Amino acid sequence: MPRPIQATIHGEALRHNLARMRAAAPDARVWAVVKANAYGHGIERVFEALRGADGFALLDLLEAERVRALGWRGPILLLEGVFEPRDLELCSRLGLWHAVHCDAQIDWLAAHKTQVPHRVFLKMNSGMNRLGFTPQRLRAAWSRLDALPQVDEISLMTHFSDADGPRGIAHQLHVFEETTRDLPGERSLANSAATLRHAADPQVRGDWIRPGIAVYGSAPDFPEHDIAHWQLQPTMTLASRVIGVQTLQPGDTVGYGSSFTADAPVRIGVVACGYADGYPRHCTTGTPVLVEGVRTRLVGRVSMDMIAVDLTPVPQAGLGSEVTLWGHAGNGAVLPIDEVAKSGGTLGYELMCALALRVPVAVD
Ligand SMILES: *Cc1c(COP(=O)(O)O)cnc(C)c1O
Repeated sequence: MPRPIQATIHGEALRHNLARMRAAAPDARVWAVVKANAYGHGIERVFEALRGADGFALLDLLEAERVRALGWRGPILLLEGVFEPRDLELCSRLGLWHAVHCDAQIDWLAAHKTQVPHRVFLKMNSGMNRLGFTPQRLRAAWSRLDALPQVDEISLMTHFSDADGPRGIAHQLHVFEETTRDLPGERSLANSAATLRHAADPQVRGDWIRPGIAVYGSAPDFPEHDIAHWQLQPTMTLASRVIGVQTLQPGDTVGYGSSFTADAPVRIGVVACGYADGYPRHCTTGTPVLVEGVRTRLVGRVSMDMIAVDLTPVPQAGLGSEVTLWGHAGNGAVLPIDEVAKSGGTLGYELMCALALRVPVAVD
């Protein structure tokens, strides 16, 4: 028997979440963002469930090839554009749309020989200061692109730094609107957080939204809101089993560094899951875990292959009991990945992306 750890990707939940994002911006088209191997879920595993999207957005050219290999003939957008001139050949061959965020990318396009003009998304830096042309330089970039025979349609995009938090998006939206007011072309602005929190404004919805994390059942603004608030469902379950049981007496400790000391007799389940499976090592005593669908807590440190959990709320649990690290338990209980991430000082994004290769993955 293989080690009992297992991840499961939930197709129905992906469909539900995609529909939920579409409903939040009903007049916009939807890029399903599948970068980072579909946020750790596996592009091939999510493809069927997400093929109702209007396009797939990602940033690795190899991932774009994988989406085409699955038979997708619709739009694919490279969110960072190309990395070197010869990437443009692949764009021509596979019909990829690509972001243009710097002058070098325009130079490469100008030198590119192609029969098919490219659809480009001109990226504006409206305050995030990661990629894109500043407001002062955007129009010159637009004019250069407009003059190139290699370029077909020019769309406009920007990205918000604070769509999930108190600073919000108004300052960036204002800069974007001021700069692009009289430029033609489709617009794309909103990630998951902007779509859920700010898309009542049609200018935020634009022509294309770009949700990622919400499609994968994590709340972009946790803990202010959770997935129940946004009506999202977990799309990844990480589950394992109890492979050992210990009974501690007051004063006994668990695991490396003896970071947990029992103050009363307590039954501890040892679970086949550790940081080498992608479980966050920074989670400490108190991190939520489900045993047989009942909420309990991690105790002590996370080791490479094992964690320990408190069996007090589940007296019937023992060797072989189901443990849900995040996602859905067999009895229908849900443990949002965001809660585990918070305990480990990180985000649902990072946990999904860090699911380790050694964990077998099923699709249901
Ligand atoms: C990753 C990414 C998104 C999706 O962001 P989420 O927060 O996961 O919704 C959208 N746009 C760009 C440019 C991105 O890089």
